[in-house]
Amino acid sequence: MEPGLQQDNKTIILSLIRSGRIPHTIIIEGSEPEERADAAILLAAGIVCRGDERPCMRCNACRKALGKHHPDVFLPEPSKTLKSGILSLKDLRDGYLSQMSIRPNEADAKVTIFREADKLLREDSQNALLKTIEEPPQKLYFIFTVQSASSLLLTVRSRARIITLRHTALTDEESEAAAEHITDGLVSVYEYDLLRTLYGLSDKERLRGALSAFVEKLRLALSFYGGVNTGDASVKKLTRKLDRARVIALIEATGEAVQLLKTNVNIQLLTTWLCSRYRRITWQK
Ligand SMILES: [Zn+2]
Repeated sequence: MEPGLQQDNKTIILSLIRSGRIPHTIIIEGSEPEERADAAILLAAGIVCRGDERPCMRCNACRKALGKHHPDVFLPEPSKTLKSGILSLKDLRDGYLSQMSIRPNEADAKVTIFREADKLLREDSQNALLKTIEEPPQKLYFIFTVQSASSLLLTVRSRARIITLRHTALTDEESEAAAEHITDGLVSVYEYDLLRTLYGLSDKERLRGALSAFVEKLRLALSFYGGVNTGDASVKKLTRKLDRARVIALIEATGEAVQLLKTNVNIQLLTTWLCSRYRRITWQK
């Protein structure tokens, strides 16, 4: 089976493989966890493939890698002794690092994929990996998948090639649905609802689409105060809860966020900032 990657993201990975110069340490960031994991697997297949055009997707090595049972492609899971989704330093050492000096089983190289590495690897584990990724033996590759490379140690980051996957923009329907969710989060008495909705849009393109659709709702809410009733359910929720001044303040805050999205802003920080702005506007007396 072929990983479910969007075409442009697949192209990014394939061109890296076919460049013939695959770095030994790679961080795959952006998009969603599943797509990042698929991209890592595709890259691993490209490394272990026995075919001519790597990855051929047909040879035994490709099939095993894509099926996640290639003996030279390692996918560390969180330690069972820990409840938190973390790979313990001991398990990293005993289960993986100690294996790295042993020759590959079937391929010419070994690939270790740390999925959602910022959660899987604590600082002590990332530090333990440093020596190996600093001077990697020719036959070792390390792939880290993570929402944002910035959540890994700088020392790891600086030794890695960072690959950023793109996210497809939301469709009009999805933007509309996201704007409705933001409205619900905003009028909810639970702070968490809003936070969860915004964090769910964990990509700049998606957040921009959702916020733009949300601004449209807010503008309709303003028209409502001017005497125009569109009958839109979200607009009703907004006008029931908020007065005109608050709606204007929300339009301003959202517009600022959309502008910031065009800069090199950290999306998690932006989301947190926007959430607290929204809260202050909606809850102030
Ligand atoms: Zn192959």
